Amino acid sequence: GDSIDEECDYLFKAVLIGDSGVGKSNLLSRFSKDEFRLDSKPTIGVEFAYRNIKVADRIVKAQIWDTAGQERFRAITSSYYRGALGAILVYDISRRQSFENVRNWLRELREFGNLDMVIVLVGNKSDLSQSREVDEEEGKSFAEAEGLCFMETSALENVNVEQVFLVMISKIHDITR
Ligand code: GDP
Ligand code: MG
Repeated sequence: GDSIDEECDYLFKAVLIGDSGVGKSNLLSRFSKDEFRLDSKPTIGVEFAYRNIKVADRIVKAQIWDTAGQERFRAITSSYYRGALGAILVYDISRRQSFENVRNWLRELREFGNLDMVIVLVGNKSDLSQSREVDEEEGKSFAEAEGLCFMETSALENVNVEQVFLVMISKIHDITR
């Protein structure tokens, strides 16, 4: 069989979404291979990355999809969301507009995604505290009102990145077990 599916009890798909430049691809490369890039190269972005994670007594293979920059043109197709059990919705704490646009991404997620999709709202670039435009409390209360999990991260400093994926994966595991 396909070696990718061996030694794995359970495979699921999750997607990264949010404005261009918020750090989606760097969050994924941090999580999947512990790498960070100072430059942004959206067009060479991978379609998805895999990582095995142990949850309770099972090995879960997370297949995380990243965009190849289509979000810049609001041209994400419904197939991107199809079958996804989880979504990581990212904004940039130093760019107010990316937080304002979270509503639009949420609407799209709820239109095209699974009804019981686990959504984690992520305020990325927490290292840029000098130029912060969105308070942590604001992100948190928006998430609470919308029934989302919430976390601030820094892909640059590798803060909370692992936790975001672990929270999402264990929540999905709770739902599907
Ligand atoms: P994407 O368009 O959402 O995939 O964003 P990228 O991952 O390509 O990142 C866009 C830019 O933000 C790049 O220049 C990254 O180096 C930078 N970046 C990503 N995450 C962080 C972070 O946590 N802190 C800082 N300071 N910069 C970041
Ligand atoms: Mg990208």
